[in-house]
Amino acid sequence: MKGLIWLRSDLRTDDNPALLNAIKECEEIIAIYIFSELQWKLHNESNIKHEFLINNLNILDKSLEKLNIPLIAINTKSFKTLPEDLCSFAAKQNIDHIFWNNEFGFNECKRDSAVIESSKKIDIKISRYNDQVIYEPGFLRTGQGNPFSVFTPFKRRWIENFNMNFLDIEKPNIARKPTQVKSDLSNLKFIKTHSVNIEIWPAGEDAAQEKLATFLQSKATSYSESRNSPIIDGTSRISPYLALGILSPKRCILEGLKLNNFEFTSGNKGICKWIDEIVWREFYRNIMYAFPKVSQNQPFQDYTNSIQWRHSSEELEAFYNGKTGFPIVDSGIRQMLEEGWMHNRLRMIVAMFFTKNMLHDWRLGEKFFMQHLIDGDFSSNNGGWQWSSSTGTDSAPYFRIFNPITQSQNFDPNGEFIKKFIPELKDVPIGQIHQPKDDLFSSTDYPAPILDLKESRLRAIQAFKDAREVSST
Ligand SMILES: Cc1cc2nc3c(=O)[nH]c(=O)nc-3n(C[C@H](O)[C@H](O)[C@H](O)COP(=O)(O)OP(=O)(O)OC[C@H]3O[C@@H](n4cnc5c(N)ncnc54)[C@H](O)[C@@H]3O)c2cc1C
Repeated sequence: MKGLIWLRSDLRTDDNPALLNAIKECEEIIAIYIFSELQWKLHNESNIKHEFLINNLNILDKSLEKLNIPLIAINTKSFKTLPEDLCSFAAKQNIDHIFWNNEFGFNECKRDSAVIESSKKIDIKISRYNDQVIYEPGFLRTGQGNPFSVFTPFKRRWIENFNMNFLDIEKPNIARKPTQVKSDLSNLKFIKTHSVNIEIWPAGEDAAQEKLATFLQSKATSYSESRNSPIIDGTSRISPYLALGILSPKRCILEGLKLNNFEFTSGNKGICKWIDEIVWREFYRNIMYAFPKVSQNQPFQDYTNSIQWRHSSEELEAFYNGKTGFPIVDSGIRQMLEEGWMHNRLRMIVAMFFTKNMLHDWRLGEKFFMQHLIDGDFSSNNGGWQWSSSTGTDSAPYFRIFNPITQSQNFDPNGEFIKKFIPELKDVPIGQIHQPKDDLFSSTDYPAPILDLKESRLRAIQAFKDAREVSST
C-alpha cells in the first residue's frame, strides 16, 4: 500500500490524525502540499503568512524526513484545478490511498468534494479526519436540533459531551518502507513584500510548543486579569501556529487542562478562560459550517443588509495607514502592519471604530485584516468582524459602541503601548496621550482626528435603527 498525506492547515507531526493513520495503514508514504498563489490572493491571505507558511514547511520537511516521508510541494492554478493536479500526481506516484484532515470553509469543502469525485475515477481511496475541532461541526445541536448560534449554550453542550479520551494523542511511528521519492519544496516561490520577524514568530512545531509551554507556565494563571492589556502581552500569541496547524487545538486544551486538574469550569480562572477562547475558535468554525452565507459575504443578521454604509476614500486611507488621529486605534493598526498580529482588545476597538464611528462596511475591514494578519483565519476573522459590527451571531448589540478614548484609558493607562507603535507621540505627556490636543497636530506629524466621536456614534445608532425599520416593512 502506498499512501499520500495531503497537508493543508495541519503542518505538524504532533496530533496529526491523517499522518498517524497513513503511517498505520500504508508501508510507503509521500506528503504533498499544494500551493496556489491565485487562490491565496482570492482568499486575501497575507504575504507575511505566506512567508511563515514556507518557513514552517521547510522545518516540517526535516521532521517528516525522520519518519521516512518526503514532502513535495506542487503548484496549482486554483481550487478549481486542484483536484485534477492532485489526482494526476497521485496516479503518477501509484498512490493507493490519500489521507487528509478536514477543513470546513465553504470553498474548501467544495474543493474536497471535487477531489473525492476525481479520485473515484482512478480508484484511489480517501480517508478524512478531524484535527481542528473536538466535535465535527454540526454535531453539537440545541435541544430543538438546530445548530448553535450563541456561544454560552454551545460551550455548555461542548463540556457536557466531553470525554477525556478525546485528548489521547498517539505519537506517529516511522513509515515502514523508505520511498525513492525525494523531498522538493522548490515550487513554493512567491514575491515577498513583508518579512516575518523570526524573533517573534519562530517557525516549526518545536517553537510553537515552546511558546505554548512558556505561556502556560508563566502567564496562563493570570490570563483573566492580563489578557486585555496590550502592553503586558498576557496572551499566548499562538494564533499564527493554530492558523496553519503547526499546533493543534487538542494539544492546547490538553496542556491547559493538565495545569488545572482536568477541570473546565473550576480551578484556576485564567486557564478556564483561556480554554474558553480555544472553544470560541471551534464555535466560529461551527457558525461557518452551519451558516454558509457568512462565507459568501453575507451578514449573519439579515436585517443588517439594509445598513447604508458610508464610503470615504480619505477616511479609508487614514485607517489603512494607522493615521485616524485616535492613538489607540492607530497603535493597533500599526502593530498589525509591523508584526502581522494585533492584540485581541485592539482588534475589537479597531473593528468597532471602523464599522460604527466610521460607519464603513465590515467586509472592507475583514479583508484588510486578512491581507495583513499572520494568523489570518477566515472563521475567527469573520466572527470577530461580525461581532464588532453587530451584524453577526452572538454579537455586541448595535448601540453598545466602544469609546476609543475610554478603552485607551482603561487598557493602556500609561500610554506605553501607544508610544511603542506611534513614535510621533513618544514625548506626549500622559494627560494627552489618549486624546492629543489640537496644538499637538501642528507640532508633530500625528494627524488630527478624522471624525467626531459623539456625532459618529449617534450616526451609527441611527443607521442601524433605519436598517431595522427598512427590513421590517
Ligand atoms: C475583528 C477581529 C478579527 C480577528 N481575526 C482573527 C484571525 O484572523 N485569526 C485568529 O486566529 N483570531 C482572530 N481574532 C480572534 C483573536 O483576536 C485572536 O485569536 C487572538 O488575538 C490571538 O492571540 P493569542 O494567540 O495570543 O490569543 P489567546 O488569548 O492566547 O487565545 C488562545 C487562542 O484562542 C483562540 N481565540 C482567542 N480569542 C478568540 C476569538 N475572539 N475568536 C476566536 N478564537 C479566539 C485563538 O486561536 C488564540 O490563539 C479576531 C478577533 C477580532 C475581534
